[in-house]
Amino acid sequence: MNEQTLSMRLERVAAHVPQGARLADIGSDHGYLPVALALRGTIEAAVAGEVAHTPYASAQRNVRRNGLEQRITIRLADGLEAIQAQDRISAVSICGMGGDTMCEILERGKARLSGGERLILQPNGGERELRAWLMANGYRIVCEEVLRENRFDYEIIVAEPGAAVVYSAEELYFGPVLMREKSPAFVTKWQRMLRQKQQTLANFERARDAIAQHKLQDFARQVGWITQVLA
Ligand code: SAM
Repeated sequence: MNEQTLSMRLERVAAHVPQGARLADIGSDHGYLPVALALRGTIEAAVAGEVAHTPYASAQRNVRRNGLEQRITIRLADGLEAIQAQDRISAVSICGMGGDTMCEILERGKARLSGGERLILQPNGGERELRAWLMANGYRIVCEEVLRENRFDYEIIVAEPGAAVVYSAEELYFGPVLMREKSPAFVTKWQRMLRQKQQTLANFERARDAIAQHKLQDFARQVGWITQVLA
């Protein structure tokens, strides 16, 4: 992967960045996403935020090598602290980290958001908690995708501020859009998850004494939901 050829995962993230956006890519690593989008003329400008020195230096090199210093600003910053009011950011991407870390970044930094930004999130796990954070903070999930690359299932969640929405427990778990659309990738993912969870549940039941009852019940409920959604 590089700024010319994004991974399929980042390519799908890129597809949700609106034409002409002013993007903040938080946890940008090499800066591949903003650099690719600037080279393609999709974004007007970007801020690439990185908390770690080595990826920050790598993003700087990539921006310089592509002559994009006027359009992409790299900032060594923790989470949304990379965003300044004068950036007039219209979209924020946070990709390739756990959903719990994303919730922390959004919660700690929400004062940095103007309230109009589209959020494009690609969590590695913790999707349910991330959707719950979005719901609690006045975001509506407008688009979702699931894709498989290098033997991993990735979800992309796109959210916009809007009228309050209440998602059911199942919608938070599967994704409100994903469970409505039931794409082939979604069905394949959850068929695989169902097999794994049924196996875990059988193991729990065999070792019933040692397993907290609520954990067993939670797994049994998940198996029920998955069975239903695939029906
Ligand atoms: N976003 C890229 C992608 O999806 O391919 C890079 C993902 S990389 C696995 C995660 C990056 O997030 C790392 O470079 C890490 O240093 C950065 N990161 C983690 N926590 C961060 C935070 N609080 N603020 C800024 N960057 C963070």
